[in-house]
Amino acid sequence: MKLKDKVAIVTGGSKGIGWGVATVFAQEGAKVVVVARDAQAGEQTAEEIRYKGGQAIFVACDVSNEEQVKATVQKTLDTYGQIDILVNNAGVGIYKSVLDTTSEEWDRCLSIDLKSVFLCSKYVIPHMQTLGKGAIINMSSVHSRSTVGSVAPYVASKGGITALTRNMAIDYGPVIRVNTISPGWVLTPLIQGIFDSSDRPAEKQRLIEERQVMKRIGTPEDIGYAAAFLASDEASFITGTELFVDGGLTAQLEETW
Ligand code: NAP
Repeated sequence: MKLKDKVAIVTGGSKGIGWGVATVFAQEGAKVVVVARDAQAGEQTAEEIRYKGGQAIFVACDVSNEEQVKATVQKTLDTYGQIDILVNNAGVGIYKSVLDTTSEEWDRCLSIDLKSVFLCSKYVIPHMQTLGKGAIINMSSVHSRSTVGSVAPYVASKGGITALTRNMAIDYGPVIRVNTISPGWVLTPLIQGIFDSSDRPAEKQRLIEERQVMKRIGTPEDIGYAAAFLASDEASFITGTELFVDGGLTAQLEETW
């Protein structure tokens, strides 16, 4: 077991990629704190982990709210006594151009996707320093490297996460390792919603699958396995890096001949 007895906070752990991370972490022996706003989905994920013999609790928290983040960190310490791993995964997508994005939408996206990384790290890092070790994994996106039109707030958040990761790795190493995972297309409620909003969801999914080197869309567990590796002692020489888990998406250019 890669993460035996380690305590991990997984933000956005109730659904999608966060669910995959929480599930794989529990299989690898971690005690998992599932963080999200919707208690029903969060409790269900924690219950599912416990049902399979793992250890998990759910804590309701809006990761863009400083007081709620502080309370979540305290609840983790009260329950499990320490924090070894933080996965800053919670996020929302606002896909609009600069001209089409309102100030409120910009602030909402940047608060949930980027400020949350700052807030959760700010209140977890001192406890990792006391422990003398720790691993932080920030969920960025392939959009940190190259992007498409009309995703302004989202791409600003993800570029910020990748840059912030490098800075935190320098500031808090060698005690704490900080890395980014940048997923490509992963089938989650977020992505299913994008498919469902198109005229022909199945056709859209098929076209996207065809675009991947691996000829499929990623699963939440694909990201969970990568996160488990980065969080584990096997990755003890890896910090400040960005791991693309994207089925080869960013490796290739469009063929035009
Ligand atoms: P998802 O299916 O929509 O799940 C998002 C999770 O984040 C849910 O658990 C949600 O729970 C939680 N969340 C959202 N806002 C929150 C808030 N303010 N406070 C606490 N929790 C919050 O999304 P996903 O596709 O799994 O994406 C997860 C992360 O991966 C995001 O950062 C996303 O940008 C990134 N990513 C995803 C893909 C992909 O293809 N799926 C690709 C690249 C990057 P509540 O709503 O109950 O709070």
